[in-house]
Amino acid sequence: VRRVTALAGGIGGARFLRGLRAALADIHAEITVIGNTGDDITMHGLRICPDLDTVMYTLGGGIHEDQGWGRADETYTVKEELAAYDVGPTWFGLGDRDIATHLVRSQMLSAGYPLSDVTAALCARWQLGVALLPMSDDRVETHVVIDGDGQRRAVHFQEWWLHLHAGVPAQDFVFIGADEATPAPGVIDAIRNADVVLLPPSNPVVSIGSILAVPGIGDALRTTAAPVVGLSPIIGNAPVRGMADACLTAIGVETSAYAVAGHYGSRADQGILDGWLVDESDKDAADLLTEEGLPTRAIPLFMHDVDTAAAMATAALDVADEVRP
Ligand code: GDP
Ligand code: CA
Repeated sequence: VRRVTALAGGIGGARFLRGLRAALADIHAEITVIGNTGDDITMHGLRICPDLDTVMYTLGGGIHEDQGWGRADETYTVKEELAAYDVGPTWFGLGDRDIATHLVRSQMLSAGYPLSDVTAALCARWQLGVALLPMSDDRVETHVVIDGDGQRRAVHFQEWWLHLHAGVPAQDFVFIGADEATPAPGVIDAIRNADVVLLPPSNPVVSIGSILAVPGIGDALRTTAAPVVGLSPIIGNAPVRGMADACLTAIGVETSAYAVAGHYGSRADQGILDGWLVDESDKDAADLLTEEGLPTRAIPLFMHDVDTAAAMATAALDVADEVRP
């Protein structure tokens, strides 16, 4: 048995995981995914977990492939009806099929089930081939500190990302509730007992960063016997999709594969990484990081399809074998 544990946000995480599952299809592997719930939001009384759903739909074959989030063959009748009542927000893509997921989740949560049980119940339908665990059963919400007409104010991450398109500079990110949160059942064990831990090319600040904000998860990564290997979401000083640059800038990290590695830090130096992968175009960064003590490999890091994502996963597992502490 090869036990592989991965932390994941939404699109970048999910597409990588689909490659990882394909790369491990022929051996008896157990994949455990620790999903970000910092993006979660309650809307119209529905509890929505965008990153868990992106992982679930992507691995379950229900994702809108081009969009990268939401359901394939989606319709927006409910959203139109809400708009007719002048009930917002209009900036959240709430599809009819998607709403069924949120209804099941909200109903189970209000019946008292923890999010981890609810997630397992939802995933039973989709047969992911991986175990998907929320980072915590406790509510943790990423808020963004912005300047609202001369006054500092915090908005929910979704409002900043979707409504403001990350166009208003973020001054800081606050993971509300993280201090009192505990990792969901199985999360710490999945890191401790893994043969390999992977950090997919997810947003380092609001996907991986929020997971690391849950007390105990960072320590588990720093102390696990498993090698921890990450892949850069930044290629040639820009995010591949989305606005991770706006997040990195806010926390004073340059948008580069080199700087993100420095942000995570090497385990030899109190950080969380034993190995790192950057795109072939960032070969210079790979050489420099390796010289500085973080073994780094440069390979193609664009996930054009499942095969390219699988090749990335295979390379990450190779690096893990090379750096195994
Ligand atoms: P989100 O929650 O939907 O934003 O998804 P994640 O946090 O999991 O992933 C977002 C990150 O994935 C962004 O910073 C992108 O740069 C990165 N990303 C998306 N597609 C690719 C790709 O093909 N290759 C690499 N290396 N990164 C990617
Ligand atoms: Ca997300």
